[in-house]
Amino acid sequence: DGPVIIVGSGHGGYQLAASLRQAGFSGRVCLINDEAHLPYQRPPLSKAYIKGSAGPESLMFRPEKFYHDQKIELIAGRAVSIDRAKRKVLLASGEMLDYGHLVLATGARNRLLDLPNANLPDVKYLRILDESEALRKIVPSKKRAVIIGAGFIGLEFASTARIKGLGVDVIELAPRVMARAVTAEVSDYFQARHREAGIRIHLGVQATSIEAEGGKVTGVSLSDGRHLPADLVVVGVGVLPNIELAAEAGLPVASGIIVDEHLLTSDPNISAIGDCALFASPRFGGSLRLESVQNATDHARCVAARLTGDSKPYDGHPWFWSDQGDDKLQIAGLTTGYDRVVLRGDPTGKAFSAFCYKGDKLLGIESINRAGDHMFGRRLLGMDRSLAPEKAADESFDLKSALA
Ligand code: FAD
Repeated sequence: DGPVIIVGSGHGGYQLAASLRQAGFSGRVCLINDEAHLPYQRPPLSKAYIKGSAGPESLMFRPEKFYHDQKIELIAGRAVSIDRAKRKVLLASGEMLDYGHLVLATGARNRLLDLPNANLPDVKYLRILDESEALRKIVPSKKRAVIIGAGFIGLEFASTARIKGLGVDVIELAPRVMARAVTAEVSDYFQARHREAGIRIHLGVQATSIEAEGGKVTGVSLSDGRHLPADLVVVGVGVLPNIELAAEAGLPVASGIIVDEHLLTSDPNISAIGDCALFASPRFGGSLRLESVQNATDHARCVAARLTGDSKPYDGHPWFWSDQGDDKLQIAGLTTGYDRVVLRGDPTGKAFSAFCYKGDKLLGIESINRAGDHMFGRRLLGMDRSLAPEKAADESFDLKSALA
């Protein structure tokens, strides 16, 4: 009982507030928002938004009227501490908010590059709307970008920069792109596609310094002694979960705010959701911290259900997507620990799926330009079923029949 205070108004925070009202919660709901915008969607920041000319309003989940009509109090500011004994949250403004239940939806922040010149104006990151907006503005005046990190965000930006006519180099320490997230088959496909588009990808190397003259970036030096000229550097080397507020309040944290399978911290009045939450997962075993829209919004729905009397352990089915150039990658399931990959379709035809197995158990499917396979995978995995690898590889096998 009592007010629900939500710290952070990204995908998780927004969804929780909306789901609470949908489920009929009539108490006070406050959404603490430390960004100077209405709650907005993050994926387009490195995709459509950065390419196009639509204004920030195109990203908003809902117009201001929605929050007013739903009596969701959007409170501008930053939560700075939690008094668990008195159930109060202190904001940077000095305002104190009482809570019945507190939800930490604080997300993650950019991991910063610790190199000389890394804080020059032409060294950019891409996590929040203001950063995407800044990049969108300066890209047309730039000639050559070096992107540090070949993860999803680095590669999405690389394709956009290339489409906008910039020379583009991508530097990656791992031996292949998106190495932590996708199979070698999918990495190889994207490496080839980006190279065809004229993007130079440098694998197994590190940036050792950013060179500048008169405060302007001139290039990046690599661990193998090479030097890449650039007038723009974009850093995409991962994120750090925002766990400090929880840690300072004495809540257990590790590589995220530790929560149980109900997304509750060790304090029964405090939950954590989304990118910041390290949650116990009976389905996958052990603890997981995921960075995806699906994870944040399904966490939010689970907590909203609990707070309105329908308590169930969180058991979401992960899925994800990334748009790079003309290619759409979609991932269903969690492929960690796979020992066998079966391809359906042909990478040379620019449409295929990699079915990932551990033994005979299907863990997940990475689909490239095959939305049907992706939707099939989400449905099949949602039913806790597998598919024999021979059937996955056989294009004449009708996947739909496996759902019957
Ligand atoms: P966030 O959306 O990060 O929201 C957290 C909010 O909390 C932020 O606004 C932060 O400023 C605020 N906050 C933190 N501390 C405080 C505090 N003390 N007080 C008040 N507010 C605070 N996922 C996909 O599934 N598909 C994609 O294609 C995809 N593309 C992406 C592209 C980009 C450029 C980025 C950055 C992310 C992308 N993601 C994608 C990941 C996805 O956006 C995140 O997983 C999702 O936003 C997580 O939601 P969240 O609510 O946990 O955190």
